[in-house]
Amino acid sequence: MKGTVYKSTGSWYQVKAEDGNFYNCRIKGKFRIQGIKSTNPVAVGDRVKIEVDEVSEEVTGIIKEIEDRDNYIIRKSVNLSKQTHIIAANIDQAFLLITLNNPPTFTTFIDRFLVTAEAYQIKTILLFNKIDTYNEEELAEVKYLAALYRQIGYECIGISAKSGKNVEKVKEKMTGKTSMISGHSGTGKSTLVNALEPSLDLKTSGISVQSKQGQHTTTFAESFDARIIDTPGIKGFGVVEMEKEELGDYFPEFFALRSECKFHNCLHLEEPHCAVKEALEKEEISWSRYKSYVQIIKGEDEQQYRMDNFEEQ
Ligand code: GDP
Ligand code: ZN
Repeated sequence: MKGTVYKSTGSWYQVKAEDGNFYNCRIKGKFRIQGIKSTNPVAVGDRVKIEVDEVSEEVTGIIKEIEDRDNYIIRKSVNLSKQTHIIAANIDQAFLLITLNNPPTFTTFIDRFLVTAEAYQIKTILLFNKIDTYNEEELAEVKYLAALYRQIGYECIGISAKSGKNVEKVKEKMTGKTSMISGHSGTGKSTLVNALEPSLDLKTSGISVQSKQGQHTTTFAESFDARIIDTPGIKGFGVVEMEKEELGDYFPEFFALRSECKFHNCLHLEEPHCAVKEALEKEEISWSRYKSYVQIIKGEDEQQYRMDNFEEQ
């Protein structure tokens, strides 16, 4: 029978099967996933095939097979080995919560998030939250940012998790899908989830479990036929390593111009006849995006980035 992993504790996996029931499953034998040295062979979100144990009184089963993943997010394991820990697999989309102030979300953070999401092939929707609190000037800034990101292909929605503005819209987008909710602490992640499904108290539901080894246990919180991944404390994703030459490919508007650069391996920095820099001069590419690009490629602010991602665990 087919099913999806909803929770993993390390040795047991809670699988929701096609028949609608939850089965506590174990794995038998060794699962090797090509190219990944992972501490957890099966992760939340994995689509699996299970064999139900008919004899046992409890609803248990054995995971026989893991289907290929569409994508997965990882982080380095806490121990010093080269192993990684898969936080979740088969994510349909990420919602990034953005607030102008209280706390401020800078475009460099948004851009780093988007680059990582592109690298993981996860579609991102930008949610500008707390619009109930903005004055005219701030609303104009939100509109400016939304237009900037819409132009390069990202969907943007202004919401108020508190007043409920556009929460239904978000709900519709989540229905039937697996979503990740990210954003700085204080941007309203728990408020949004509670607005989506009041019975699901993100703060107290025990989703953000930390096991004794200090490893996070990720679970799906299922609500209104949508699966939500809470990635405890990790704002954004795990680590992603990429070559300098690759970075421009994850800025969609740069990628679109790449073939027009004189050099096929153009880094869009000091090279002559660079289509990206020409577009920048013509203001067809935004300076804030280019600034983020340069910052990432030069490894500036790396410390800050790491803190953004991992500090608050
Ligand atoms: P999290 O850390 O991302 O989970 O953020 P919380 O959901 O805990 O929200 C942080 C604070 O912002 C809380 O005091 C919320 O009540 C408040 N908040 C969240 N969303 C909104 C909103 O849309 N409007 C207003 N005015 N406050 C909000
Ligand atoms: Zn170039």
